[in-house]
Amino acid sequence: MHPNMLNVSIKHFCTICAAILVLLLLYLPVNGQIIKQTIPDKTVVLTFDDGVASHYGHVAPLLKERGFGATFFVCEFPPNFADSTLYMNWRQMQQLDKMGFEVANHTHKHAPVGKLPEEDITRELSYIENKFDSLEMTSPISFAYPGYSMSPTVLQVLDQKGYLLARAGGSRPYNPLKDHPYLLPSWATDSGNEATIMEALQQAKNGQIVILTIHGVPDLEHPWVNTPPEMFQRYLDYLTENHFRVLSLKQLTEFIDFKQAGKKLKADFDKPLRN
Ligand SMILES: [Zn+2]
Repeated sequence: MHPNMLNVSIKHFCTICAAILVLLLLYLPVNGQIIKQTIPDKTVVLTFDDGVASHYGHVAPLLKERGFGATFFVCEFPPNFADSTLYMNWRQMQQLDKMGFEVANHTHKHAPVGKLPEEDITRELSYIENKFDSLEMTSPISFAYPGYSMSPTVLQVLDQKGYLLARAGGSRPYNPLKDHPYLLPSWATDSGNEATIMEALQQAKNGQIVILTIHGVPDLEHPWVNTPPEMFQRYLDYLTENHFRVLSLKQLTEFIDFKQAGKKLKADFDKPLRN
């Protein structure tokens, strides 16, 4: 081979290498940094809202038995928080934390934060943080919008306070490469939508996670979001028999870098976010 020809082919080879390298570098920052490790198919997150009494008395023991993770979003639901037949007391919420569940912030009084000014949002969140602190509970990193009430101001407060993620509605799967961590979508269960929820569970694949929002099991005070215990049992059996991985929101930090996601993704309020 003529020495010049060798030179030319090395040059060509290097041009191809450089092109591949550039393409890799363009691709990696988006994918490589938000996703810490591949999200297995059949990953489901269970979240329970409003600090309902049945969460402590009925739900938590059933989840524990199966080794399922879950997030409990607690508040002092007005006006009947003090009624122990309807709501958990703080000792019970503390117990959930001790049992290894994630206990997280749903504001002091189930406030429609999306309609409030910054000072009021801050006060509503701080009350729960201080309560956790005084009871030596794990500091909350997750938030859920009461009544799916949200605004850019709430997102600012969450950021200032160092929250990693916040759960909304929207009845669609969570795609960590597309959904902003402060606008995680979920489906809400009620006594009439078992078929919808079963269909939703089928969408936990190809990097998408299904998050369920569950109220009381049963919910005596808010019958429109009631999940009957027999129905809940069927969900648990289905998840077990079909080898789903059932986690809390916090356990997703094993797979997702929420801080990176927050920096890279736009908070899009035009997507469906309410149930
Ligand atoms: Zn709520």
